[in-house]
Amino acid sequence: MKRIEDFYNDGCFLCGNMCGVKRISGEKGKCNSDDTIYIASRNLHFGEEPPISGYDGSGTIFFSNCSLKCRYCQNYPISQFGVGKPYDQDRLINIILELQKKKAKNINLVTPTHYSYHIYRVIKKLKDGLLNIPVVWNTSSYENPEIVDFLDDVVDIYLADIRYSKNSDAEKYSSVKKYTDIAFQNVIKFFKQKGNLQIDEYGYATKGLLVRILVLPGMVENAKDIIKFCYDNFGREIYLSLMSQYTPYYKALDDPNLKRRVKFEEYQDVVDYAKKLGLENCFIQEIEDVEERCL
Ligand code: SF4
Repeated sequence: MKRIEDFYNDGCFLCGNMCGVKRISGEKGKCNSDDTIYIASRNLHFGEEPPISGYDGSGTIFFSNCSLKCRYCQNYPISQFGVGKPYDQDRLINIILELQKKKAKNINLVTPTHYSYHIYRVIKKLKDGLLNIPVVWNTSSYENPEIVDFLDDVVDIYLADIRYSKNSDAEKYSSVKKYTDIAFQNVIKFFKQKGNLQIDEYGYATKGLLVRILVLPGMVENAKDIIKFCYDNFGREIYLSLMSQYTPYYKALDDPNLKRRVKFEEYQDVVDYAKKLGLENCFIQEIEDVEERCL
């Protein structure tokens, strides 16, 4: 039986890029990461969906670097240029315990995929009686699907983006191969492990899957295809977050397709489609008509 070390020590295969570089010897893969954990920030965050943030806040840790290269990433200094400070596993343990002490409702690991080996080891130790709040895996869903099997032991809630319904769009806009094949496979695994989102009597998520769909400009069909995938595989009760917040940053400013915000009509079209399918648990964002402000 394979161990998580087998996907890391002799060559890194933690994510769908499958680089095979020896990070423990200082080599860096496509995610720009070697063996050192880099963290950009850690704090109580109030901007996630209500069952994740609530009134008390989510104990959020933003990891630096990323296995995707999204042209429009709003956090590009962190994800693409590695802004952050180095930490080892012991210091990561301390950060998590500090957030728990500050009454965070959960530990929200943002962009964790390329550090899944390190995080797995850390959370395994903490789950042994020290950590008593849920662990949220806040992911682009581009893990090596074999790694997801290990995550079952350490993750309580999957907050999972599905970005593209076509591999070709993922190659074009995020420079990753077979994204859709991998993400769809992973999200099915997430659901099999944890089921649909479970919310306690105080409104906080305790376990399960919440799928996030960022509506991209001119890509309404992409969002609808992802909604349909969720409906077909998880039923109408699946929790979805339909996100209208797209704002062009980074390389999107020079991209003819990406250099504008999402129009009110586009977002409404996506919301209407979810309603038409009878999806019961959708988080919807407010959107003003941004046409006048399109770049
Ligand atoms: S995490 Fe992914 S991108 Fe980074 S080195 Fe490993 S396989 Fe490559």
